[in-house]
Amino acid sequence: MHIAKRALTVTPSLTLGITAKAKKLKEEGRDVVSFGAGEPDFNTPVYIRDAAKYALDKGMTKYTPASGTLQLKKAIADKLLKDNGLKYDTSEIVVSNGAKHSLYNAIQAIVDPGDEVIIPKPYWLTYPELVTLSDGVVKYVDTKEENGFKLTADELKNAITPKTRAVIFNNPNNPTGAAYTEDEVKALAAVIEKTDIYVIADEIYEKLSYTYNMYSIAAYSEKLKAQTIIVNGVSKTYAMTGWRIGYVAAPKDVVKAIANMQSHTTSNPNTIAQYASAVAYESEEGDAFLTEMFSSFDRRRKLIMAELDKVKEVTYVKPDGAFYIMVNISKCFGKKSGDVLIDTAHGFATDILDKADVAVIPLESFGADDFIRLSYAISDEDIIKGVKRIGEYISSLK
Ligand code: PLP
Repeated sequence: MHIAKRALTVTPSLTLGITAKAKKLKEEGRDVVSFGAGEPDFNTPVYIRDAAKYALDKGMTKYTPASGTLQLKKAIADKLLKDNGLKYDTSEIVVSNGAKHSLYNAIQAIVDPGDEVIIPKPYWLTYPELVTLSDGVVKYVDTKEENGFKLTADELKNAITPKTRAVIFNNPNNPTGAAYTEDEVKALAAVIEKTDIYVIADEIYEKLSYTYNMYSIAAYSEKLKAQTIIVNGVSKTYAMTGWRIGYVAAPKDVVKAIANMQSHTTSNPNTIAQYASAVAYESEEGDAFLTEMFSSFDRRRKLIMAELDKVKEVTYVKPDGAFYIMVNISKCFGKKSGDVLIDTAHGFATDILDKADVAVIPLESFGADDFIRLSYAISDEDIIKGVKRIGEYISSLK
């Protein structure tokens, strides 16, 4: 029977096979070290879990407004003012089922068929799929390793055409681990401000910027704020990936368009999770949790760099944000592991899982063919053990 072109254009995930296999091997009792995690290894803080229990007991089990509760929107508006110095009215905020859903909605709301959306390379693999689902045209922009894979003002300027509708700006970045300085963000803002394009600012890793203070691009000027669609949520900030709460903060027209679509697609995000998310933002207990998580990831970031420094043949891009490190394995290409020729990151990832019980994410589908991504949202012991195995595996290649 017929399947629509729209669905057929979505690329099946290359990485899914590797993570599924790692899981299977673990279930079979193999001691697999998995660097695949895309989420904090912390449990949601107790005060947030307690809030969800309270919501249930109080009977908060009905529909809310499709765009989210006023309580949560107020909590988000307060957060934007406190953390980012940005004044948003609750009518400029719409809550959805995770930041991914917010991104989907934002792109659906602004991209017409044929519109170009600029995506700096490497990129989070979902972005191009969302643009394609809107019949938009992805315009990739290569960033440079010597710039830490950060988009520069000139690279952005050269990519803008009369057909450009938006640029997606993810800071801190998955998969590069890059974080931008305030000056670097302002240089991009200055380019965007001279145009009428949107910037979709994915700030989901906002609280994990280790070297620089996170500066939201919307803070540059009132004009820039009117061009910015901020996407953020509780997933990475409060270790709430499974709760599925994300939001958009944007000009009223964009928010209204998203809310209208959402009212006919998903209706409101989970009522209990919305209440718990509001408490997550409102309570001062969040600060202690954030400090603990931040220092733990920062420590592990330094640990994984120190361990990788011992591995010959690989280089990495020093990460300043999120919990990922990108490792260049291209020196392994052309070598053999037993009978297997290693000539792609995917081949490397498949073989190292088979032979050394290490799961890594190959980055072809993130636009970085020579790289694998390691998540350091795992224990110190696993970081040490896993990187040692990577080193031994690479030494065994002929
Ligand atoms: N944006 C980036 C860059 C991400 O890495 C992720 C999750 O991995 C998301 C958005 C999605 O977040 P959520 O789980 O809230 O949908």
